Amino acid sequence: MDFTNSGDIEWEDAPPDHFTGAVRFGPHYPPQDPDDLNVLGVHFSPGARTDWHSHPGGQVIYVTEGAGYVVNETGNRAEITAGDVVHAPPNELHWHGARANSHMVHLSLTWRGATQWDARKVTDDEYEA
Ligand code: MN
Repeated sequence: MDFTNSGDIEWEDAPPDHFTGAVRFGPHYPPQDPDDLNVLGVHFSPGARTDWHSHPGGQVIYVTEGAGYVVNETGNRAEITAGDVVHAPPNELHWHGARANSHMVHLSLTWRGATQWDARKVTDDEYEA
């Protein structure tokens, strides 16, 4: 067993080409095989969010701190807070991020392949809609 105290987790900046605002990656359990489960902790500062993207095998988002949004291409917007769980089906275009007045931390659980980035930022109008 490998135990890491929360204060010892080394958060690092997420790649800015796929995010708006300050986003950091924390605990990461990358898959041994591309089809296997990929577990990643993600910390969004207030107002920060992903770009539009999808996941070939779908995604489970488990919110552990703060408050934010998950929005899909049809405009379905879920307001999420700590303890909430979201399932995005395979290949459904969406984004997630923190509210303007709160940070948000979530675990991302994905499998069967890497995130597909749509090369499209979430505009302020889309964020505030
Ligand atoms: Mn996602």
